[in-house]
Amino acid sequence: MKPNRKAVSLATRAVRAASALHGDERSIAPPIYLSTTFERDPDGEYSGGFNYSRDDNPNRQALEHALTDLEDGADAAAFASGSAAAMTLFQALRPGDHVVVAEDSYYSIRVMLAEVFVPWGLSVTYADCSDLNAVEAALTPATRLIFIETPSNPLLRVTDIAGAAALAHRAGALLVCDNTLPTPVLQRPFAHGADVVVHSTTKYLSGNHDAMGGALVTAREDAFWERIRLQQKLCGAIPSPFASWLTLRGMASLAPRVRWQHDSSVAVATFLAAHPAVLEVLHPDLPGHPQHALAARQSDGSGALFSVRLSGGREAAMAAAAQLRVFRRATSFGGPESLVEHRAAVEGPNSKTPDDLLRLAIGLEDRAELIADLTAALAPLG
Ligand code: PLP
Repeated sequence: MKPNRKAVSLATRAVRAASALHGDERSIAPPIYLSTTFERDPDGEYSGGFNYSRDDNPNRQALEHALTDLEDGADAAAFASGSAAAMTLFQALRPGDHVVVAEDSYYSIRVMLAEVFVPWGLSVTYADCSDLNAVEAALTPATRLIFIETPSNPLLRVTDIAGAAALAHRAGALLVCDNTLPTPVLQRPFAHGADVVVHSTTKYLSGNHDAMGGALVTAREDAFWERIRLQQKLCGAIPSPFASWLTLRGMASLAPRVRWQHDSSVAVATFLAAHPAVLEVLHPDLPGHPQHALAARQSDGSGALFSVRLSGGREAAMAAAAQLRVFRRATSFGGPESLVEHRAAVEGPNSKTPDDLLRLAIGLEDRAELIADLTAALAPLG
């Protein structure tokens, strides 16, 4: 059964979707269906609706319905990670097809394209998607999709979703939008013309730093979507029932968590922007960001991940990260714990990330304590 969109707010829909699955006992929290196989009826039918868990499973289906509902899509497919979702998207294309990808999209997706999909036969052009002229110049007659990430991780550049969708559609291509950073709470890519939304549910959607997952959500169920569903079933890069359950449990609290984390990120970024040790703060919701007006027009906020560049270069960035006590030094984002990371060191030799940059993922701690932590860590730097 497809989700009921009549419930008013996203916050309420998220809570309802998270408890929509129940056994005959009508439990409020959903059960976990670990069974990999389901019994046939005497006439050979599967009246329970499931036959084998690689094809479909009640926990994964409940998660997919919730994702469809929250993004206002037509259908969703859940995967073992955000990278598995992106892999499935590219695998649904054909060798010889061309894609335009944001040059500052998540680093591992660019490595996946170079190491796996270019040898497989996909042709890729990287473009600065914050500039629609550059996107247009990258299109070829073989372009099948434009892959944007807005805001991007970790440079926080913003792409005009409606503008990129118009260019894609004029070229007979699809616009795919990675909505991991803002989540559907803050940004609705389908309302601006996107065709497919990508998520790493590992981040805010699951929200607890304890469940890997990814998703593709579609605006319509067409032939391309059928290929994605086929890849999901045949190749099996699916989340386990437990990972699906954890993700759905996290999604119940998505709206208040993301709004809290976003408001804290603006407070922390505003503090940093006025600090003498800081060269630049990359946060689209600060008025000084070059694409602030576009970000404000197409979203209710850019999320709670942002970056800061320090005047003292790499050494200062490393020294500040080493001093932090409330922020934890770890990769990823989206959970309760605030995290700090020197991205260039993690990304390696082809990184586009400046050496003086720290990426901050704001969690659920008290925002005054986060600012006090940064005040102490930056004090020796000026
Ligand atoms: N998209 C974005 C914007 C990300 O930041 C990440 C991971 O950090 C991914 C996709 C990949 O997701 P996963 O780590 O779940 O494979």
